Amino acid sequence: MTQPAPVEASAREACSACGGELTALGKCERCGAVFGEAYRCPLCHALSDVEANAQLNWSCRTCGGPRIPPRAGASPEGEIAQLRIARREQLRAGAFHAGSGFALGAGLLALLVTNVVLLATSPPPLAKAFALFASVVPLLLSFLAFRRARAHRQGLERALQQAWLAAASRVAARDGHVTAPALAATLGLDEARAELLLAELSVQDLIGAEPAAARVRVTELARPEELSAAAEEEAQAAQARLNKP
Ligand SMILES: [Zn+2]
Ligand SMILES: [Zn+2]
Repeated sequence: MTQPAPVEASAREACSACGGELTALGKCERCGAVFGEAYRCPLCHALSDVEANAQLNWSCRTCGGPRIPPRAGASPEGEIAQLRIARREQLRAGAFHAGSGFALGAGLLALLVTNVVLLATSPPPLAKAFALFASVVPLLLSFLAFRRARAHRQGLERALQQAWLAAASRVAARDGHVTAPALAATLGLDEARAELLLAELSVQDLIGAEPAAARVRVTELARPEELSAAAEEEAQAAQARLNKP
């Protein structure tokens, strides 16, 4: 049995669009078209390049969802699950944000119109109070939607952090002892961010926690004997940690 390569190499040798040479991962060096499976988006399944994104670090050119750059290697299921959660939270945050903006606009307009009408006419006080209250309702909705958007944005950040941590621990395991500049280059992050990821990983090592990806993988094992084997491995690892002076 052959070991699977960490990243699938492209089957093609030249770009079918311009005839330019392809990189090892299957990206045309001349026109930027991508052909390698390494570029398959785990969210929308399109063969698509990634682009820099202020909020997500890297996003899919096709669906706009969060991506880990292809040169980090193929993402395991646990990491993809976090990317999916991040994508869902990203969409919800966007929807609530748009709703909040729309309700704010509607509320301010209603308030303006109501005030103009109230100035021009002199309705009974009860009608006046009711009209003002009615125009304030959209503002209240806008505020609630704004809070929901913020909650979803925090959910997005949490899921993204888990995905990047899993990717960093994967790259560290693959490349051996990895430095912040090397990790930053592989993951396409700035060095400060890579440094933070490495610090977080070493904290996880220190407290003996499994990295997020490994934890998900263990719970996803289907067969009971695999689960008990995994549990035994865990127990041995814990024992080894205890025995360490
Ligand atoms: Zn090309
Ligand atoms: Zn995509």
